[in-house]
Amino acid sequence: MAKERILKGIAVSKGICQGVVFIYETKDVKVVQTPIPMRYLETEVERFTKALKRTEKELSNIKERIDEEMGVDFAQFLDAQILMLKDRDIVEAVSSRIRTEKTNAEYIYHRVLDEYAKKLSASRDQYLRERVADIWDVGTRVLRNLVGLTHSSVVDVPQGSVLVAHDISPSDAALINPANVLGIAIEVGGRTSHTAITARALEIPAVVGVENLLGKIKNGEKVILDGNRGILIKSPTPGRIQFFRGEIKREIEYQKMLSPYCELPAKTRDGRQIDISANIEFSVEHTHAKRAGAMGIGLFRTEFLYLTRRGNPSEEEQFRVYNELAKKMKPDPVIIRTYDLGGDKIFSDYHEANPYLGWRAIRVSLDDFEFFKIQLRAILRASVNRNIRIMYPMISTYEEIKKAETYFDQVTKELRREKVDFDDHIQVGIMVETPSAAILSPQLAAHVDFFSIGSNDLTQYVLAVDRGNERVSHLFDHFHPAVLRLIKQVIDAGHKAHIWVGLCGELAADPLAIPLLIGLGIDELSMSPVAIPKAKMVLRALTVPECEKIAAKALNFRCASEVQKFLRRMIAKKFPGIGGIK
Ligand code: PEP
Ligand code: MG
Repeated sequence: MAKERILKGIAVSKGICQGVVFIYETKDVKVVQTPIPMRYLETEVERFTKALKRTEKELSNIKERIDEEMGVDFAQFLDAQILMLKDRDIVEAVSSRIRTEKTNAEYIYHRVLDEYAKKLSASRDQYLRERVADIWDVGTRVLRNLVGLTHSSVVDVPQGSVLVAHDISPSDAALINPANVLGIAIEVGGRTSHTAITARALEIPAVVGVENLLGKIKNGEKVILDGNRGILIKSPTPGRIQFFRGEIKREIEYQKMLSPYCELPAKTRDGRQIDISANIEFSVEHTHAKRAGAMGIGLFRTEFLYLTRRGNPSEEEQFRVYNELAKKMKPDPVIIRTYDLGGDKIFSDYHEANPYLGWRAIRVSLDDFEFFKIQLRAILRASVNRNIRIMYPMISTYEEIKKAETYFDQVTKELRREKVDFDDHIQVGIMVETPSAAILSPQLAAHVDFFSIGSNDLTQYVLAVDRGNERVSHLFDHFHPAVLRLIKQVIDAGHKAHIWVGLCGELAADPLAIPLLIGLGIDELSMSPVAIPKAKMVLRALTVPECEKIAAKALNFRCASEVQKFLRRMIAKKFPGIGGIK
């Protein structure tokens, strides 16, 4: 019997599961050149066309499944891939070159794709350049079928799997099927990496930052993944399996204990209402949000629309998604954040030395009015529902707010000219997630309708710690007093200017942070839907004066660990019956 081994990582998405390892590798297919005798040339061409047909069938099956489970907005890029597969120029070039060069299909196909991809990469058209990733996605699938390998893709993961990978790109993460994937373990990443965020959104237990994971684990191995402790156990002993079965049972009971809180109002014991809303990446998550008792959507990360399509969705496509979401959530508000592209949400053909300090979020949108306009028009058109709010990500200067305002005015003028109805009183706010925006919040507050503090980025930028880099993830701590002091400044500045202030980073979902944030005067907390019942339980047990005392004390510590120790003590006092809080 294989020896049990415990692999440590960072716990990023809660829950425990027992499953079978499915290794997701994006390795290239090895293509070798083989001469084909004259008499077998037609058989070789036929082998190629059969591989195309098989690939088409695979893609259609995937599309059908995604359509059904995730909604039509997810599967559209697969239509584009099927079209690419049938591209007549490519198919004819490959067939005729197999005949003239008397060489095997995979070698010729690989060469033709390579030439085609190079041409697209050199194009001035960004859309065409971005198709290169799709070409290789489809191409690799065909090549695998040609050489008789099964295709390893996140969409093909069998039921009961624990998905193991070096990394999962945001666009692949968007395709994970929660019905089949019980858990996720990857080698890279931190708590706020987008794989982690997606795992939480899909409510799949996940561990990231497991060093040299692929070197330690094999396909098909039985494992237990513990997303609470951040461990992956390979070849668990019978005793261990029994222990974790008990844990899973206790977890189910804990969730049962929390479930009545979904329905209860988010009010402190002395009656202060805190708006608890949901962070979502995919429009289908409105059901999770409602089920968990969210009072609206506090953050819709629209860049996931872009990533699932691998390109800019049209105005009409975006309108459909925003409109549907607004209708489903009515009368509760829906805050649509304009694209936060860049950072780790990388464009397929665009790389920077310091992506988090580079061309990201509002900077991308403001650099290309035509691109930004599509999104603004779609959001404004959907605002006829009268519950939509707009939020700009990563504002770092006053000029950015002004420029966004100018663009916004141009779009509203255009819509009025076209006699298109929209919400004249739509609230427009900004994310406060750069140190400059936080420090200048008293000056910026006069120009916006609300602030939503992005504690993930604010922590990354204040502490100079890359939020996705596992080597420094131990330094990433949103309880750092430097971060907390800035949060206080932003809340005070917002209130002085009579605007509401929310917080939508991971800090909002941390039960330890709730008394602190209430004590600082936060008006809204937005978090992934799974975290909502517990947040309500915590806040309903507190009073504002006791939270104010806690906040005043927490701000005066020297380091994050002192803050955490203090908060843990406070919470344990409050919830002695359940041994503090999980
Ligand atoms: C944040 O930075 O805190 C935030 C909520 O935005 P994102 O995680 O999408 O960058
Ligand atoms: Mg952010």
